[in-house]
Amino acid sequence: MKEIRMVDLNGQHQKIHTLINNSIEGVINSTAFINGPEVKNFQKSLENYLNAKHVIPCGNGTDALQISLMSLCLRPGDEIITSDFTFIATSEVIAFLGLKPVFVDVEPGSFNISPDSIKKSLSPKTKVIVPVHLFGQCANMDEILNIAKENNLFVIEDTAQALGAEYSFSDGTKARAGTMGDIGTVSFFPSKNLGAYGDGGAIITNNDDLATKIRSIGNHGMEKRYYHNRIGVNSRLDSIQAAILNVKLKYLDEYNQSRQKAAAFYDKAFRNLDGITIPHRTNSSTHIFHQYTLTTEPELRDPLNAWLAQKGIPSMIYYPVPLHQQKVFSNYGYNNKKFQVTGSLSRRVISLPMHTELDKEQLDYIVSHIITFLNNHK
Ligand SMILES: *Cc1c(COP(=O)(O)O)cnc(C)c1O
Repeated sequence: MKEIRMVDLNGQHQKIHTLINNSIEGVINSTAFINGPEVKNFQKSLENYLNAKHVIPCGNGTDALQISLMSLCLRPGDEIITSDFTFIATSEVIAFLGLKPVFVDVEPGSFNISPDSIKKSLSPKTKVIVPVHLFGQCANMDEILNIAKENNLFVIEDTAQALGAEYSFSDGTKARAGTMGDIGTVSFFPSKNLGAYGDGGAIITNNDDLATKIRSIGNHGMEKRYYHNRIGVNSRLDSIQAAILNVKLKYLDEYNQSRQKAAAFYDKAFRNLDGITIPHRTNSSTHIFHQYTLTTEPELRDPLNAWLAQKGIPSMIYYPVPLHQQKVFSNYGYNNKKFQVTGSLSRRVISLPMHTELDKEQLDYIVSHIITFLNNHK
């Protein structure tokens, strides 16, 4: 059996290595390393894929979030509502810009931000909601967009884990993750569903004015060369990464289907077992399984993690500490009682190996060891 990994970038690369090597060589031969034609090509391909008006490539997913917030004319102390259960990047840029992260609880099934908790956290200072489409499944965008509309708020969708997921609105229309709010942000970190061979990110918007501003902020506040209208940053997608991403984008749906196939295998094996719960699917979104995350009885989680490690099966805890409990945010004085669900999830979640290259032998091996563990703990 091939070694089991959380993510198998090597196996994925082997299947497309000629195309990738040619794309890299093309950029090297052109020497258009920064803002070369490959960046524009990738931008156009991603706009087409998403059916979005503007894609603005940038350096990484964290920059995408930061630049998006910078484009909204916010003032120090403005409140940004976001999920308590996500990677730190979503909230650290909020604090970095002198804005206040207001964390809210998530739904126990989908792990995504709870619209009811959002409503309870609104204040006159609230300006933006940043839902995160966690683990590859969209948050409840019908309700989030309604709350935003009623309260005149911007919505930035953190789509780092969900590029390619599709949301179905209650009226039957469909949209890709990242294209529903005012702005969507994406990461091309190598382990993401569309991964570069280094860092990369992008910002999505259908709003022409925001697109102009975002483009300018990502490029030192310039619109015309050497005329600077605002404070910006330097955040660019490398031409080599753009060329690689342009090859890989053609495979994204196929990659997501491979993940769904592995998830279906896990589901079937684990559906009726005591002690663990398979990831919940909402009716309104496809799930592209950036992570396959089980919820266990709290006393089983760490022993299962250790047992799997012994058997050569990696597993990860996303996330072991809810954001409101992170040391970096201790000065905000968040109240643990407001976060019943994230508090509980952080003791119960465990993510299994999930990538495009898992074969039946590996999946059988993983499943059988989890079943043996559960039988030993009855
Ligand atoms: C990966 C990730 C980011 C950050 O992306 P980088 O490209 O690593 O900066 C932001 N938000 C979420 C939810 C992520 O998973």
